[in-house]
Amino acid sequence: MTSYSGFNLVATKCCGAVYSTPRYSSINMSASEYWTDGARLHSLMPTDGGLRRCKCGTFYLMKSTFNVGFQEERTAPTPQFVNDSELDGVLKTDLIQEVETVVRRRYWRFLNEPYRDLYRVHREIEDLKFQRSKGFLNKILKKLGLFKDDRANEDKFTVPDFVPSKDFCNNLECLLALINESESLDHLESTEILRELSRFDEAEQALSMSVDDVSTTANLLRQLVGERANAPYRYRM
Ligand SMILES: [Zn+2]
Repeated sequence: MTSYSGFNLVATKCCGAVYSTPRYSSINMSASEYWTDGARLHSLMPTDGGLRRCKCGTFYLMKSTFNVGFQEERTAPTPQFVNDSELDGVLKTDLIQEVETVVRRRYWRFLNEPYRDLYRVHREIEDLKFQRSKGFLNKILKKLGLFKDDRANEDKFTVPDFVPSKDFCNNLECLLALINESESLDHLESTEILRELSRFDEAEQALSMSVDDVSTTANLLRQLVGERANAPYRYRM
């Protein structure tokens, strides 16, 4: 369960504007869908990287603000969120490295949204086919000798073809360069970026450098890199 009590007052570095944010006492980390590109569905945990727009026009991250007080009731304004549809425009402005990293990470996930829809529909149809193949109708078809046995195909987990656009690749190349320069390099993230760019040998190398090599995510990435699969995948934790 996610709950909060009162509000922290925070000031931005750019112009010292003060905003209020909920003081969380607990955060629910669960989500209904996990994706290899880091996207989450129905997550109560914020996944927007803390990107906000200050009233002076500067884009900043919540983690870069200063804590300047606390209030029980909200009187200071809420920080302004940035919508996914604005990210393209945000990237055309002057951004410091840590902000650009967050914007490009979010833009990556945003550009994968249409594919996620294709994927969900494809998997739903495949799952229905699988259920139907075990159903009553096929029992009759079998008796009549008309059932086409395609169990061999049922075992293969399929997803739609993933064909990245030029804009997508360009964004990921830039993001990769940014995270390679950052102090908190996440090798699992660079593995995923390289995999979606179909640079599988480099993805293997990045994965071998990760300290996390036993988690659900790491195991899935190892399998996908091995299969030379480039699509974002949905999985359960
Ligand atoms: Zn400002």
